Amino acid sequence: MRPDKYIKNYIDGALVPPASGQYLDNVNPATGKVYSWLPDSDAEDVERAVAAAKKAFPEWSRCGVERRFRILSRIADIIEQNLDDFARAESIDNGKPLAMSRSVDIPRAQANFRFFATSILHFASEAHPVEGRAINYTLRQPIGVVGCISPWNLPLYLFTWKIAPALAAGNCVVAKPSELTPMTAYMLAKACIEAGLPKGVLNIVHGLGPKAGQAIVEHPEIKAISFTGGTKTGQAIARTAAPMFKKLSLELGGKNPNIIFADCDFDQMMVDTLRSSFSNNGQICLCGSRIYVERPLYERFRDELVKRAQFLKVGDPFSQVTDLGALVSEAHMEKVLSYISLAEMEGGKILCGGKRLELEGELAGGYFVRPTVIEGLPLECRTNQEEIFGPVVTIQPFDTEEEALQLANGTGYGLAATLWTQDISRAHRMAEQLEFGIVWINCWMERDLRTPFGGMKSSGVGREGGWEALRFFTEPKNVCVKY
Ligand code: NAD
Repeated sequence: MRPDKYIKNYIDGALVPPASGQYLDNVNPATGKVYSWLPDSDAEDVERAVAAAKKAFPEWSRCGVERRFRILSRIADIIEQNLDDFARAESIDNGKPLAMSRSVDIPRAQANFRFFATSILHFASEAHPVEGRAINYTLRQPIGVVGCISPWNLPLYLFTWKIAPALAAGNCVVAKPSELTPMTAYMLAKACIEAGLPKGVLNIVHGLGPKAGQAIVEHPEIKAISFTGGTKTGQAIARTAAPMFKKLSLELGGKNPNIIFADCDFDQMMVDTLRSSFSNNGQICLCGSRIYVERPLYERFRDELVKRAQFLKVGDPFSQVTDLGALVSEAHMEKVLSYISLAEMEGGKILCGGKRLELEGELAGGYFVRPTVIEGLPLECRTNQEEIFGPVVTIQPFDTEEEALQLANGTGYGLAATLWTQDISRAHRMAEQLEFGIVWINCWMERDLRTPFGGMKSSGVGREGGWEALRFFTEPKNVCVKY
C-alpha cells in the first residue's frame, strides 16, 4: 500500500477531492520540504460526510456485533500486512524514527482495531431486579454519528484509538486527523475499502482544525465528540459543543512529574526515565517533563541523565542508529526552542542540549533539537507550569514525601505521574494522593488497553480505553418492566 502525492478525503466509501478543490502542503519534518498535499476541507465536505454517515447508520447499528467484529478484524489484518508501508509513511509524515513507527505506532493501530473488534463481542449491560415487582435493564445503544479528532504526535495510533471503539459500538464516524500528519489516515481509508467496510460508516475529512475540525464540532447531527489534543483547543471545542449538549471526551495536555526516591532500582529507573523524557522527542502526552529526585540521589541521577542524554543519537528517522528524529514542524520546533530560552531567562541552567541541531545534505532543513536537561528552576515558573511537548526536562531535588507530592501536584495538569521507590507502603500511599489519571509505579508506558485512560484537571474530561470507551460511544437507556 503506497502513499500518494495527493491525499483525498474518504466520504461515502470513496476517495474524493475536497469540495473547494484547495489543498494544503504536507511537509516532511526531517527535510523541511513539502512532499505531498492534503485536502483543505471545509463545512461542505463535513456536510457530505455527515450525510453519508447518517445514511449508513441504520444498517451498521443493527447489523450485529459478529459482522462488526469481522470487518474491524479485517481492517486490523490489512494494517498488519502492510506494516512496513504504514511505518514508513508515519515516519516521513511525523519525523519519528522508523524503528518506533514499526514497533509502537502501527502495531498499536492494528491492536486498537483488534481489541475493540473483540471487546464488542463481550460488552454487556446491567440488569437491576426489584424483587417480586419489576426488572430494570439497561440498553446500551450506539449514539448515531460521532466525531473523532486527533493530534499529530501518535498519528494512526490515536486516530484508531477513537475510531475503533466508535465503530465497534455501532456508530458511524466523521473523523479528522491532524493536518500535520494526514498520510496514514489516508492509507487507513484504503484499508477500510479493502476490508469491505460499508460505505459511509467511516468518513475521513482532512484539513485545518479551525475550519474542518470546527465544522465537525458544530455540526448539529454529530452527537458526540471524542477529541485528543491541546488544552486550549479542548476549551474551544467545549465552548461550541457543551451548549449543544454533545457528549464530550477530551484528552488534553500534560506536565507530568517523575518522582524518584533514593531507594529505587537505579538501573531500571535510569532506563525508563530516559525513555519517559525523550521518547518520540518528548512528544507523547505521557512523557515525564518534571523530574523530582530525593536529595541523596540527586547528583548521581543528574550526572547519569546528562551523560545518557548526550549519548542519544539525533538525526535521520530512517537510520537504524537514530534515537530521536525530527520534531513535527518548524512552528513546533520554534515553540520548543522558545521555551528553552525562557527557561534560561527564568534562571535555569542548561546542563545539555538546548539548541537546534543543524544537519547536512538532505536533512539540512530538518527540525532537530538536542535532548535538553535543565536544573535550578522553581515549581512556579512558566517552564515548570506549561506544556512544552519537546525533548526538554527539568530536574529538581526534594527532601520529604510531602514535598514531592506538593511539587508533583503543583500544576494545573493531571495526566500521568511516575513514581520510583522500593517502599511498597509509600508507593500506595502516594498513588492515592497523586492528582493524576494514571500513576505508574516503577515503570513507564506500561499500557493495557482495558484500563481507563485519561486525565484530571486541565488534562481532560472523561476516560478512553476498554469498557470506558464503549460506554462513551453508547447511550444507556433504562427499560423498566413491571410484572
Ligand atoms: P491541537 O489541539 O493543536 O490539535 C489536535 C487536533 O485538533 C488536530 O486534528 C487539529 O486540527 C484539531 N483542531 C484544532 N483546532 C480545532 C478546533 N477549533 N476545532 C476542532 N478541531 C480543532 O493539538 P496538537 O498540537 O495536534 O497535539 C499536541 C497536544 O495533544 C499536546 O497538548 C498533547 O499533550 C496533546 N495530547 C494529549 C493526549 C492525551 O491522551 N491526553 C495524547 C496525545 C496528545
